[in-house]
Amino acid sequence: MEVKFIAANNVGKLARWLRLIGYDTRLFRQKNDGQMIKTALSEDRVILTKDTQFMKRRLVTNGKLKTILIKQDDPKLQVQEVVKTLNLNYHFKPFSLCLECNQALIARDKGEVQNLVPAHVFEIQTQYTECPTCHRIYWQGTHWQAMVKKLQDLQGGGSEKHTSS
Ligand SMILES: [Zn+2]
Repeated sequence: MEVKFIAANNVGKLARWLRLIGYDTRLFRQKNDGQMIKTALSEDRVILTKDTQFMKRRLVTNGKLKTILIKQDDPKLQVQEVVKTLNLNYHFKPFSLCLECNQALIARDKGEVQNLVPAHVFEIQTQYTECPTCHRIYWQGTHWQAMVKKLQDLQGGGSEKHTSS
């Protein structure tokens, strides 16, 4: 079963990190919690928030609304909190979602992106994807590799290891 999330405005950076490892995460930018709750229930999404008051809502306390209270401030540690709480996988579907739009990326041939990416990237990268909404071109370059490495470092810092392969 695939877990999906909705991130409250107070954990916006966390949304990008979850998208990076492939977890569908909507970012809720408005103040209106009611709309966020509606979306979470209708799309079966787990709410991520730093708002302790939110945790006292009846829908949360009775378990109807799945919510994780995020305690850390650093987005990287927040990812770790979510991953540990739900026993998720850091290698779920990396590079499959647009970090900005949460849209599934579409594979593009090298030839299609020649004029859309920097020449030094085009020279060495062979695999590209494009976001159908914002048309950003992604490639698995050093930046993403560095982010994935950081996640792996976090993963290694745990006391228990879940090895289910
Ligand atoms: Zn996009």
